[in-house]
Amino acid sequence: MTGTYAQVERLFADFGMHAYLGEAVTQQEHALQTADLAQRDSATDALVIAALLHDIGHILVEDAHGAHHARIDAHHDDAGADWCATHFGASVANPVRLHVAAKRYLVTIDPDYFATLSEASVHTLSLQGGRMDQSEVAAFERLDGWQEAIALRRWDDRAKVPGRPVPPLSAYRPVIERLAQARV
Ligand code: FE
Repeated sequence: MTGTYAQVERLFADFGMHAYLGEAVTQQEHALQTADLAQRDSATDALVIAALLHDIGHILVEDAHGAHHARIDAHHDDAGADWCATHFGASVANPVRLHVAAKRYLVTIDPDYFATLSEASVHTLSLQGGRMDQSEVAAFERLDGWQEAIALRRWDDRAKVPGRPVPPLSAYRPVIERLAQARV
């Protein structure tokens, strides 16, 4: 089987230059900026890799469909998390699975958060279910990895700056290989 890093490299090589849904950066720029922000905030290795791969579901969907246009897929969180669970473990997969729910959670509990969202992100919010009700908030706070997902979400929202210089994908190779071995 092809190694995990080789698969990541291939997916970004084939689809990473595609636009990140309605934003001024590509999928790869967005992924690298999200990981870099996590790194700068001294996140754990697992969370840095979750940040790097949080939208890999979008790329997997394009890969599976052979589609060469950006799709808005309501379930890219699950597709990406399932892939991460196969290649790594729960500490990478859980924050990926919850990063969309984290947006719904933050718009519900943080009155200032909504104003920070881009136009595209506001648009997808309604497709993703909008604000949470009280029982959804309580249920979210019981999930494994919910706090990591909130941290990831805040990096995700800031990782849309055209031309920001960041380390290349290859900088993450050693960590990806180690986590793929460890399966934590
Ligand atoms: Fe994202």
